[in-house]
Amino acid sequence: MKTRKYEKAILEIINNSYDHLSAEEVFAKLKESEPKVVLASVYNNLNALVAEDKIRRVAVEGQKDRYDRMTRHDHLVCKCCGAITDFHFDDLTRAIEEKLGEKILGYNLNVIYMCPSCKAKNTL
Ligand SMILES: [Zn+2]
Ligand SMILES: [Zn+2]
Repeated sequence: MKTRKYEKAILEIINNSYDHLSAEEVFAKLKESEPKVVLASVYNNLNALVAEDKIRRVAVEGQKDRYDRMTRHDHLVCKCCGAITDFHFDDLTRAIEEKLGEKILGYNLNVIYMCPSCKAKNTL
């Protein structure tokens, strides 16, 4: 499909980034190598990649959706500035499955906290 022609480049941008990019940020990066790309096709590609489990969407209340690589990790979200930080908790899949009595496909965990720089500002 013609609309998927940027798929590989978009996948590469996301897999090489630790910044939790929004669609607009992916668009800006892609434009450096593909000046003719339009934002709508970035959205289409992102949606398709999420549907195919090639990338994941990170939804944080009050923020734009971000896009992230699939490698298993969780997120710390600062309740003051909204910064998203990768964090590796022990895999909770087994604990959840035991409690639920069912197999699960996965989970999304956003741990809300106050990031070190906000904390420093607050104690001044
Ligand atoms: Zn913060
Ligand atoms: Zn992440």
